[in-house]
Amino acid sequence: EAETTAAVTNSSVTTANSVPIEVAGNLGTPAEAPPAVKAGADGVGLFRTEFLFLDRDAPPTEDEQFEAYYEVCSQFADRCANNDGHVIIRTADIGGDKPIPYLSLDPEENGFLGARGIRLSLEEHTDLFETQLRALLRVAATDVGDSIAVMFPLVSTVEELAAAIDRVERVQTALDAEGVTARVPELGVMIETPGSVFLANAFAKRVDFLSIGTNDLVQYVLAAQRDLDRMDSYQDPLAPAVLRAIDHTTTAAENNDAWVGMCGEMAGDPTLTELLIGLGLSELSMSAVTIPEVKQAVKDTDTAAARELAETVLACETHTEVRAALEIEK
Ligand code: PEP
Ligand code: MG
Repeated sequence: EAETTAAVTNSSVTTANSVPIEVAGNLGTPAEAPPAVKAGADGVGLFRTEFLFLDRDAPPTEDEQFEAYYEVCSQFADRCANNDGHVIIRTADIGGDKPIPYLSLDPEENGFLGARGIRLSLEEHTDLFETQLRALLRVAATDVGDSIAVMFPLVSTVEELAAAIDRVERVQTALDAEGVTARVPELGVMIETPGSVFLANAFAKRVDFLSIGTNDLVQYVLAAQRDLDRMDSYQDPLAPAVLRAIDHTTTAAENNDAWVGMCGEMAGDPTLTELLIGLGLSELSMSAVTIPEVKQAVKDTDTAAARELAETVLACETHTEVRAALEIEK
């Protein structure tokens, strides 16, 4: 038993028919990196950088951010070099349920339908965004920066995505002019709004990868706030509308030579691993505790059978039918 667990946790996994699937960790702070490595994470599918901005009186400096990103990359450098893994760092997703005292964000204007994520970065706090990008591009050019990737949260229009990419390029130009060593890494975008799902083709043309954030995607597709107890019954990624949104996204990625992963809670449920592989995801990112079980589920999956399961589930029009197709009780 111990031997099997070690074998699963210390190496990257493929499905039963040899298709590689990256099983990565979600991190909230650099301190969460060692436990994720220990649990067998092949990389990082989501490093939430909000912690750098919370519980303090002023925003973090460029060097402070550089240290934090460098630290996480160095924890994963060997692992990623061996299995082509990624360390995906998400630019600050502030606002919504993540308020920041020193930015004096108006709660009404910064709720889930207000200024949050990329909107704040592009419109109101361009200075913070630029500082963060400088730190990220500098880390990308270091000895541990090969696997780093950067992604943008809560994007819902092509204009926003194009502006974010443009900002990255401008920062690189500025660093070059200053003689600072830096590099533009792989870029990606989170798919977590209905707008981004409908535009997934246009998004996939412009970036290297898409990462589906089911926590917000469920909230926005079903118009049910994610932190309201009364809306609990809606927080279900097996809603047929959500499953079709995921399928639309993976198809768009495939048609545009982008890869697609998932970093919402759904990715960490081992009972859904076969379905997610069948839906076309090649990377699943989750909290450390579920990594060994999901890796085992990947090894048990055959992609042809998984695709058949996905087709069956996508044909379902109700939750009840989806659950029956997946043989899930409830
Ligand atoms: C998501 O929305 O699914 C996600 C991974 O991002 P967060 O939970 O940080 O909003
Ligand atoms: Mg989100």
